[in-house]
Amino acid sequence: MKEFQFHDIYSLVSLIDRSVHYEEQFWNHDEEMFVAASAKFSRDTLLHLYTVTRAYNHYHRDFRKNGDLIEEDELEHWMSLFASYGVKIVPLKIEDEEEAEKWMDDNQDSFLDLFDKMSEEVFHILFPNRNFLIKFNRLVAEQIQETKYPTNVLTKKGTIKRVSIPKWVQNAVFHRDKGRCIYCNTDLTGIVNTLTTKNFDHIVPLDMHGANDPCNIQLACEKCNKSKSNTEASTTNKYHPWWPE
Ligand SMILES: [Zn+2]
Repeated sequence: MKEFQFHDIYSLVSLIDRSVHYEEQFWNHDEEMFVAASAKFSRDTLLHLYTVTRAYNHYHRDFRKNGDLIEEDELEHWMSLFASYGVKIVPLKIEDEEEAEKWMDDNQDSFLDLFDKMSEEVFHILFPNRNFLIKFNRLVAEQIQETKYPTNVLTKKGTIKRVSIPKWVQNAVFHRDKGRCIYCNTDLTGIVNTLTTKNFDHIVPLDMHGANDPCNIQLACEKCNKSKSNTEASTTNKYHPWWPE
């Protein structure tokens, strides 16, 4: 098991959700990490990478613009966040408030470490939300088209080559989607109906510059998966409620 703090995590979730909604690009990201995480399935997903990058850029800009207005309680809030997530940082004294941006620059590793820890919790909240994931994967596809990849991971068409989906990704997606086809609700658990075959479907197809990333996979039955065109990104907004109405 993993310990999560959920310390003010929803403001970061909201930042990421809004950023994706307004199509804020992956800027200032580590290109090598992006290439690695999009070409083959990585436990540190593209959503983790996006969260760390967006959070750092957002708060850096905020400190640059409003650092001189930083209040004592806001500083206390930052210190309690660092404490909750067990990340060491040299405190900023209120008399140095005009130095807030410099404080962030000088403590870049601590901030990145904090956002990295928080990105695990952001992922935990947003991974089940396929309405978010389809928007996110469209943004990823744009970035993939702008990124230079080693030729061995690309098809002749210039899209990322298909790789087999690891068992740990299949398990996570199977549980997230409750063992049912997200299109037609067919039971794919094999408990009741043993004649169905489960398929792991790319939300944004590789042909459309989709990624080999856990966030881009959903559960479908063979029939729905086969009838899906590989030139169209799709998911559904159907979810299983915790109890019947
Ligand atoms: Zn189906």
